[in-house]
Amino acid sequence: MQKFKPEQAMVDVKREFGEHGGVAPSISRSSTFTVMEPDIMPEIFQGIRGPDKGGCFLYSRHFNPTTSILSRYLAALEDTEAAVCTGSGMSAIACTLLQLCRVGDHIVSSDTVYGGTHALMEDLFPQMGITTTFVDPTDTAAFKSALTSKTKVIYTEAVGNPTLKVADIPALAELAKKEGITFVVDNTFTPVMISPARLGADIVVYSLTKYINGASDIIGGAVCAGQEFVYRLMDLHTGRVMLLGPTMDPQVAFDVIQRLPHLPLRMKEHSARAMAIAVRLHKLGVPVIYPGLPSHPQRDLLESQINENYGFGGMLAVNCGTKEKAEELMSILQNKERFGYIAVSLGYYDTLLSCSGSSTSSEIPPEEQEKMGLSPGLLRISIGYSGSLSSRIEQIERAVRAVGLTNEGQ
Ligand SMILES: *Cc1c(COP(=O)(O)O)cnc(C)c1O
Repeated sequence: MQKFKPEQAMVDVKREFGEHGGVAPSISRSSTFTVMEPDIMPEIFQGIRGPDKGGCFLYSRHFNPTTSILSRYLAALEDTEAAVCTGSGMSAIACTLLQLCRVGDHIVSSDTVYGGTHALMEDLFPQMGITTTFVDPTDTAAFKSALTSKTKVIYTEAVGNPTLKVADIPALAELAKKEGITFVVDNTFTPVMISPARLGADIVVYSLTKYINGASDIIGGAVCAGQEFVYRLMDLHTGRVMLLGPTMDPQVAFDVIQRLPHLPLRMKEHSARAMAIAVRLHKLGVPVIYPGLPSHPQRDLLESQINENYGFGGMLAVNCGTKEKAEELMSILQNKERFGYIAVSLGYYDTLLSCSGSSTSSEIPPEEQEKMGLSPGLLRISIGYSGSLSSRIEQIERAVRAVGLTNEGQ
């Protein structure tokens, strides 16, 4: 396969300039648009003559000029035919799965997924007659054995939240293709770094809230897929995005458009710093989980899937043993060392610290957390790029020593 350069693909796509020749695109806030000739209104309404087919925009829940620019840029980034933006990552995931499944259908999902996604599949979907079997994302054979005649979707995160297990995307894609099942990948943790559609995924879903926006000041999502699937999501009669209505605001789309050009730089720096910190912690004997460390069981698998030059990602986890110890470490890291902030979410320029078991994965029952390898003492760290790296390393070294997590003196 030819090497894919997402940073180049994003600028090779047709650039959109603002009014008056602005280098930044304009924000089109109109909810509705003037149709110059009344006789084309029916064609526009039926989607036969959209803005991409010589027609015009109609109404901003359907398509909006500014939001459509972001959709095109994201499709270029993922190398998919099309994309559609939504108001949140959860709405992108929910609308995708509801478009693919109906009453009686079945999903086989990784058990290592975002807490909200887990709740959606385990608690909400059964109320709508859709069931899910959860399996270990590193065990491709387990996905295969869980398939039934009703399975419509195989679902995984490229690098799973929060235990950082790596799925074999090409192998799962092959399985899905052979069985005629749609393969959906959540790439929220690894934009630019991994291109799931290039590796065989049918649909790539995103929370833009995290790395893609990178400033922790908006909530947004996207579905990157073939043109046909995006049209299905926007269908006037049955489109889940069109009719459930999680529309992205054009102002939000504009903000993300302005931050996309430095996403590749940001990912490189997140990765480089996470690697340096992980190596240091590992050397000190701290139980650190980072998919770039030789000790990580899927390091080579991840290396075989990543695009060149982006490293192994900005997320790492420290297994502190108990929730109390994790809280002690977080508290020192925030309040004494000022290494980062105790906050959920990820992909921010500052470091964010959270205890997943009791926060973003708390929707997952304790027995299942244990099964997926999520211990209550697991501290998830989204490594930021503010400050100097050497000072950051000194800060975290002092903190892990203070709580006795190193093997020094043993
Ligand atoms: C945050 C997150 C989501 C949900 O996204 P929102 O934008 O908060 O709705 C989904 N998947 C993963 C991996 C996430 O980290």
